[in-house]
Amino acid sequence: MLIQLRDVSQRYGIKNVLSSCTLNIDRGQFVALVGPSGCGKSTLLRFILGTNQPTTGLVLLDGKAISGPTREVGIVYQHYSLYPFLTALDNVAFGLMLDRTSIPFRLFRPFAWRSLRQQYRAAASCMLDEFGLGHVLHSYPGELSGGQRQRVAIAQSLVMQPRVLLLDEPFGALDEATREELQRYLLQLYQKNVAAKQKGQPPPYTIVFVTHELNEAFYLADRVVGLSRYWRDGDVG
Ligand code: ADP
Ligand code: MG
Repeated sequence: MLIQLRDVSQRYGIKNVLSSCTLNIDRGQFVALVGPSGCGKSTLLRFILGTNQPTTGLVLLDGKAISGPTREVGIVYQHYSLYPFLTALDNVAFGLMLDRTSIPFRLFRPFAWRSLRQQYRAAASCMLDEFGLGHVLHSYPGELSGGQRQRVAIAQSLVMQPRVLLLDEPFGALDEATREELQRYLLQLYQKNVAAKQKGQPPPYTIVFVTHELNEAFYLADRVVGLSRYWRDGDVG
């Protein structure tokens, strides 16, 4: 199991948000997490992301307790998290540059740094191309449509090759046509998993996405997990 939530509960003061939640997610699964607003979907994602720990219970990534955010888990939110002062290309390359090099390396090895920078930009350009954004590499977020920005945000996460990609209502702010277009991009990732498995290779993408649209959940996911607000007879979480 790649992700395991074992008997996870979250309380805020006297309020129970999640109660004894157990969930196992295998490598290569596309899991949709559905439930009414306020039932704890984003809270659950934050446990997997590692920014929060549950009040009780255990969250494991590949058998190890998650103790903080790492590059192994990426996230895309409803409202894009792009740097407005960087082009689409630089937004995607930026994470790679920060993650893979140190400040002394950048300062004292300018030639090696320049060659790596070119390498990272090439990887970013390739990723953007896959998301149909080859023609807007040098545009700034403000010049892109909402759907294009979300695709850049997904590319920005995927270029880091995370083991898990979390999507928190990623298409919530988009109109229907754009939403469908983005759903097709996610399904392409699913197809890559299928192709990898057919070749006997491990599926590259494991995705947990939150949506309150049941149609979207059934269309995109190979597994749908529902969170209810009623966590014990008569109690509303
Ligand atoms: P969802 O994503 O399903 O809409 P959330 O996980 O964001 O739900 O929140 C679940 C509940 O927990 C909400 O009622 C919210 O107000 C509450 N909550 C979330 N974070 C905090 C916090 N840091 N302190 C207190 N209450 C919180
Ligand atoms: Mg939420």
